[in-house]
Amino acid sequence: ISIGTELLMGELADTNAPYLAAQLPPMGIELQRITQTGDDIDMLVQALQQASQRSDLVLTTGGLGPTEDDLTRESIAKLMEETPYVDPQLLQNLKNIFRQRSSNMPETNVKQATLINSATSLNNSMGTAPGWWVERKGKIIVAMPGPPGELHRMWEREVEPKLYSYRRGMVTVTRSLKTFGLGEGVLNEKMSHLFHLSTTSLGMYAQAQGVHLRIRASAPTSNEAQILISPIEEEIRGLVGDYIW
Ligand code: AMP
Ligand code: MG
Repeated sequence: ISIGTELLMGELADTNAPYLAAQLPPMGIELQRITQTGDDIDMLVQALQQASQRSDLVLTTGGLGPTEDDLTRESIAKLMEETPYVDPQLLQNLKNIFRQRSSNMPETNVKQATLINSATSLNNSMGTAPGWWVERKGKIIVAMPGPPGELHRMWEREVEPKLYSYRRGMVTVTRSLKTFGLGEGVLNEKMSHLFHLSTTSLGMYAQAQGVHLRIRASAPTSNEAQILISPIEEEIRGLVGDYIW
């Protein structure tokens, strides 16, 4: 869930969702939906509720700032029906950051030091907003900051290592073949028998320069996934090899 009214106004392009989406297939985590919501507590609670009914894992970015319109923590607390409290250690860390910057901490920043009982904090080495790792009844919600640099760092250092133990032991690998000179319809006709295989899935994506074919497979290791992909790739090359660049 990408959180921020600026996303809904077309003022800011959501780069966080595609970043996270690309991280998940190698971990064998299947992304079911990407949602964008504004900074509105009711919309946010609804989005979180629907997402956590649908999925075992919900990732959010944004809305962790100190300002009135940053409502991610409040929304998660409301969904969980838990009361946020100020964590003394987080407050100390926050005060240290401001001391290093030689400035006084505005009172509104205190909410960046809050937790709920189901949450543990995720260290943000680039900013003042810690993330939240929330776990209850087998469901996980991970709240991460909006600024892409902070998100990437927190994902790499805090979230990805933690998620490792929840892997279902599968990875998804994609092989892309770029074609030129054949339309989607013709390609589809030539390889319609390859769309509904049990081992691999096939997607076609029309781009300005031609149609990209993507073969995907999931297996316990990326090598094994490659082995599933190889014969399909060979067959496609046999059918339209002259059009692949
Ligand atoms: P926030 O955590 O909501 O205070 O977000 C702080 C800043 O992060 C925003 O002003 C944007 O510059 C950036 N940001 C938030 N969400 C996204 C997103 N989905 N994609 C790219 N940048 C974002
Ligand atoms: Mg925001």
